[in-house]
Amino acid sequence: MGEDRRSFLKLAGLAALCVAGKGPLSRFDSAAEASTGEASKGIRRAMVVDLAKCLEEKDCKLCTEACHRAHNVPNVADPKHEVKWIWQEPFRDAFPDEGAPHVAEALTSRPALVFCNHCDNPPCARVCPTEATWKRPDGIVMMYWHRCIGCRYCMAACPYGSRSFNWEDPRPYVKQVNRDFPTRTKGVVEKCTFCDERLARGEAPACVAACKEKAMTFGNLNDPDSEVRRLLRSRFALRRKPALGTQPEVYYLV
Ligand code: SF4
Repeated sequence: MGEDRRSFLKLAGLAALCVAGKGPLSRFDSAAEASTGEASKGIRRAMVVDLAKCLEEKDCKLCTEACHRAHNVPNVADPKHEVKWIWQEPFRDAFPDEGAPHVAEALTSRPALVFCNHCDNPPCARVCPTEATWKRPDGIVMMYWHRCIGCRYCMAACPYGSRSFNWEDPRPYVKQVNRDFPTRTKGVVEKCTFCDERLARGEAPACVAACKEKAMTFGNLNDPDSEVRRLLRSRFALRRKPALGTQPEVYYLV
């Protein structure tokens, strides 16, 4: 995508914010608002997941369903070909490096919610030969599907398995197409984008909005008064595979 088009999209995001206004949103730090342009400078978007609240209701999939519905994520049953933006992993697979060996069994015995970490130092973006994936000034690691040539270097580079590849045309696997969001094609990689399209409308990410337990908090890490900063000040938090130096910006309260 050329700079002109990117700039246009940034301006469109700003315009959408102006139209939509900024209503109070539960667990959504509206100070980390919709903008993708100039005003996003100085913002560092991040997610905090409270593992004690998440999955309090066993088998809860509200966030995953909301995300996949909003983004036309195909429901492919074959695990080798499945596509996922947000899903559950056994705790020890999500946090394999014993960063918190004494975490309560009540947490380690149930799965952790995982998705793209929107790393500060994203190896996926470094290896992409077409810049189909890139990091915005506010930290969101984006995907432009129409630029993806399906080389899958990003999948090899991501140490979290946060990217999925469409081995087949995904559209027959989307039950109810959300016409406000693009579908993808065969041979394209996809992943979570922190709901950039919703942020541009001044809305919280779909997963945050769908969570009944209010286990997910999204906001601006650079604002010391934000809810994400308050949570990280008051509770101990893990990040996934910190030794790799990718600097994930998804935090897990334990
Ligand atoms: Fe890239 Fe993976 Fe980090 Fe997401 S989690 S930014 S896909 S390296």
